[in-house]
Amino acid sequence: MATRKRVAVVGTGTVGSQAAWRLAARGAEVVAYDRFAPGHDRSAAGGETRVFRSVQTDDGRYVPLVRHADALWKQLQAETGRELRRLTGCLFTGPGDDPEMRTIMKVIAEHGLDHEVIDAEALAKRFPQFRVDDGDLAVLDPRAGFVRPELTVQTAARRAEELGARIRRYTPVREVDPVAGGGVEVRTDSDTERFDAAVVTPGPWVGDLLPDLPWEVSVYRAISAWFLPNEDHQADAERPAFIRRGDIPFYGIPSPDGLAVKLGLSQAHHKPVDDPNKLDRTVAPEELETFTAMVRRYLPGLNPDPVRLAVFMEGYTDSTRPLVGPLPGRDDIILLAGFSGQGFKLSPAFGDIAADLALDGSSAQPIDFLSTTGRTEA
Ligand SMILES: Cc1cc2nc3c(=O)[nH]c(=O)nc-3n(C[C@H](O)[C@H](O)[C@H](O)COP(=O)(O)OP(=O)(O)OC[C@H]3O[C@@H](n4cnc5c(N)ncnc54)[C@H](O)[C@@H]3O)c2cc1C
Repeated sequence: MATRKRVAVVGTGTVGSQAAWRLAARGAEVVAYDRFAPGHDRSAAGGETRVFRSVQTDDGRYVPLVRHADALWKQLQAETGRELRRLTGCLFTGPGDDPEMRTIMKVIAEHGLDHEVIDAEALAKRFPQFRVDDGDLAVLDPRAGFVRPELTVQTAARRAEELGARIRRYTPVREVDPVAGGGVEVRTDSDTERFDAAVVTPGPWVGDLLPDLPWEVSVYRAISAWFLPNEDHQADAERPAFIRRGDIPFYGIPSPDGLAVKLGLSQAHHKPVDDPNKLDRTVAPEELETFTAMVRRYLPGLNPDPVRLAVFMEGYTDSTRPLVGPLPGRDDIILLAGFSGQGFKLSPAFGDIAADLALDGSSAQPIDFLSTTGRTEA
């Protein structure tokens, strides 16, 4: 009889909680560590919502991974009875000649994705909450909507526990060391445990935990801002999420309770974070200027003074492609990091891929373009 593999998950956040679920579901003996507790808001996840979309804006190679994630989102919801995702659609708007709007149309055509192109007149009638510029294109992804980050992380972690995983809360891991002859040791302030393999998913702390990593993961601070509608129906949770491309890209998601709309800007507007342990969670008034300008210009139904602000951080690679695979020369230490602003929607797929790599040494999912193996550039 095959022996049960013992696998550590280091960082039980967005991807780590999913990895713990998938590993436990596949019979591994799992110990998952977090410096806080699953569902906390001091890292990359939090702020009620993340966009889920089937249409990719930058690279069609993510499409099969989105399909895999889609199946697992349904499975986790079915296993737990929690509403983790709501498909309200996602509306893309931007200049027709914008490179990302072109990529969107190319990815849609190449993969035969469901979509609807909406002209300016129809847009004004159907979605009066959005203003567009002359010559803009509007495309609706109907297989899109929002996912709920805190609830998802807690639900995946809890499901992992139900399946036998042990979660060590408020337990920062100090070192993940390979053992001569195979296996891994995970050291905390109180003890050291031995495992057959480790899945390392520390999000913005990747450079802190693995200072010798051969790839750069730069950490940025991202602000979420919530705005109230001038009329109640404007924030309706059944309205689509939206992504605007063009000179100042931004995105928005109606709150699940239908009371507000959350907005976020693109990476170019995020400040670098030198130390993830010292994230500045105070927002200066000047940091709100672009938000206010975007509301005034494109979202006339919202009051431009935000009513709530939150600060998160995220690790970006230079290519914005995440790092997925073993550390160089260490097949039993599997790294998943640098999700570059797009990890949440895909997190169940990445959790499953982590389980493939830790238990079988390979994955049937098409991850060559993300793989750490032979990768020289981040
Ligand atoms: C504001 C914002 C908006 C975003 N919007 C979207 C979106 O709309 N759609 C989308 O798909 N993606 C979006 N993203 C990206 C997505 O949220 C991230 O890619 C994803 O959450 C990253 O997951 P992670 O597991 O790498 O990191 P995290 O979720 O941060 O998990 C890392 C975990 O590791 C723990 N940890 C760290 N170091 C240690 C240690 N030494 N020992 C123990 N535990 C440790 C941390 O406490 C944390 O819980 C957004 C990101 C931000 C910041």
